[in-house]
Amino acid sequence: MRATDVDDAHGRGSANIEGSPVVCGPAAPTASSAAVLGPLRFDAVRLADGGQLGAWQALNRAATIDHCVAHLESSGNLDNVRRLVGASTEDYRGYWFADSDVYKVLEAIGWETGRAGDAGWDGFVSATVWLLRSAQESDGYLNSWMQGLHPERRWAALEHSHELYCLGHLVQAAVAMSRAAGRDDLLTVARDFADLAVRELGEGGIEAIDGHPEVETALVELYRHTGERAYLALAARMVELRGRGLLPHGRFGAQYLQDHAPVREVTEAIGHAVRQLYLAAGVTDVYLETGDETLLASMEALWRSVYEEKTYITGAHGSRHRDEAFGDPYELPPDRAYAETCAAVASFMWNWRLLLATGHGRYAEEMERALYNAIAASTALDGRHFFYSNPLHLRAGHDGSNEDAPSERLSWYGCSCCPPNLARLMASLHHYVATGDEHGIQLHLLTAGRVAAGPATLDVATDYPWDGRVEIAVEGPAAEWELALRIPAWCARATVTIDGQAQDAAVDDRGYVRLRRAWGGSSRVVLELDMPVRVIAAHPRVDAVRGCGALARGPLVYCVEQADHGDVAVEDLRLDPDDPPQPGEADAALGVPVTLVGKAAVDGSSPGALYGDYAGPVPVSDVAPLKAIPYFRWANRGPNPMRVWIPMR
Ligand SMILES: [Zn+2]
Repeated sequence: MRATDVDDAHGRGSANIEGSPVVCGPAAPTASSAAVLGPLRFDAVRLADGGQLGAWQALNRAATIDHCVAHLESSGNLDNVRRLVGASTEDYRGYWFADSDVYKVLEAIGWETGRAGDAGWDGFVSATVWLLRSAQESDGYLNSWMQGLHPERRWAALEHSHELYCLGHLVQAAVAMSRAAGRDDLLTVARDFADLAVRELGEGGIEAIDGHPEVETALVELYRHTGERAYLALAARMVELRGRGLLPHGRFGAQYLQDHAPVREVTEAIGHAVRQLYLAAGVTDVYLETGDETLLASMEALWRSVYEEKTYITGAHGSRHRDEAFGDPYELPPDRAYAETCAAVASFMWNWRLLLATGHGRYAEEMERALYNAIAASTALDGRHFFYSNPLHLRAGHDGSNEDAPSERLSWYGCSCCPPNLARLMASLHHYVATGDEHGIQLHLLTAGRVAAGPATLDVATDYPWDGRVEIAVEGPAAEWELALRIPAWCARATVTIDGQAQDAAVDDRGYVRLRRAWGGSSRVVLELDMPVRVIAAHPRVDAVRGCGALARGPLVYCVEQADHGDVAVEDLRLDPDDPPQPGEADAALGVPVTLVGKAAVDGSSPGALYGDYAGPVPVSDVAPLKAIPYFRWANRGPNPMRVWIPMR
């Protein structure tokens, strides 16, 4: 394969042409960007419905998107906009950023329509775009809360108002609609609002940033999509203005608003987790388009803080319910984990941008960890119930109903940022599987499906993440190029054959096996990843889980749930690290091909005195069967206690 053939497969390079037939995905660096890897065309990858990622994408199409559309109606998000044009007499309902949920749902529909066609959403989209256009001020301003309730306060309370946050989501929806669904009516609405922001907040205008970052990454994408550099300039200006004390910090403080320090001086993830991670995505986007290495350096330092000290084993972030915040280093309590779904989605997006920027597999590794655990766990089997907070331990008697941490997934929330965020990610999930560069094709997420990049086609057959065998049928004309396969860091031993011939499967310093050869005709690549059950321990400073082990197999973190343990309280189970449970039978009702089964010791303690003199380790009273299921399938059998971290005997 010639380099140009691979380039042809990219969305990048064509992203600046409005109405271009080349379909790009959610983040499409320009041809002149600093990206070392390029996304493939949005239609280059098809996930197999029978694979786990394909199944999630199909469920999103069949259930989640329509569920979200229905709730935009019943929760008042659409009526809030209708009020502005006299089409609703309802009072404003929901939070001041309720518009953002409308935009996230439109974004999901945009990607999904581009992926697999309209599923009856066209009328809703047309009506909603018409409504937004009708409600938009003549100068481009659009925000139902501000226009409806505080028209005199435009840009005057940005620490709180989310006006630019909502603009950001409008822009992302418009880009999705334009790129993938082929309609530019929403883009007109978004550009008019973005142009107003450029005029009033750009160079020479008001110095302003939003208390909730999001618009930065969106403006960079709008630049990529339209070629209009003013959007990139505004994004870069907002990155530069952060941490300069422009916002009144109020009772939440500067960290909550991500205004505590200039971006380049930040070395620790702190404050509101979603805001921190959206900001990081935006900063990385600005780096990608400007090549400002100081921004990349700051992002790499921030990444080390996040992943070396502040990430749950599920890939979730945010250990404090208060202010939805990152905690101190190693402050990762499993029961009090806030672990908001949106934070995991945001980190997935940030890691994708760092992957494009550096080509390093550690970023794809974190995408995969978040995807199969924190993100997947947030949605119920029916695709219509969701967690906002994703704890790693639910105690018997838990009541979190007053803090967005219920014992079961809910169909919607008062602040329902998470479900539409899931919908837009799932609709574009296939886009994150592979990339291309001048060397060839890189497979980052191993999953069943087809990748068509340039003249080569990869048909990937695998039961991953349940099984470590991955068969790839490579078809294409004779050409020399490189197929790079990411080897997950949890895999201690991988073998590769091509047409039955063993290959050098050495993993390079970026985490990939690179198969460079003269391909041609049909070749069969077989990758075998050892996938034993692992008992994982946390760094000793994570006091909350000291002495505990977590079960994992492949990219999946497992948990024990009360529903599988009868009268033996899961909180009394103790794991024998020398005899961990092993792959066992499927649980069809949960859609789990591989459970883990074995035995556990049972604590001899009983309820009673909370404290007493130390008398050595708690004795074991019994041995009981242990069954572990993937964490992402917990809480699909009614509310019941669960734990990821299990005390070790
Ligand atoms: Zn959320």
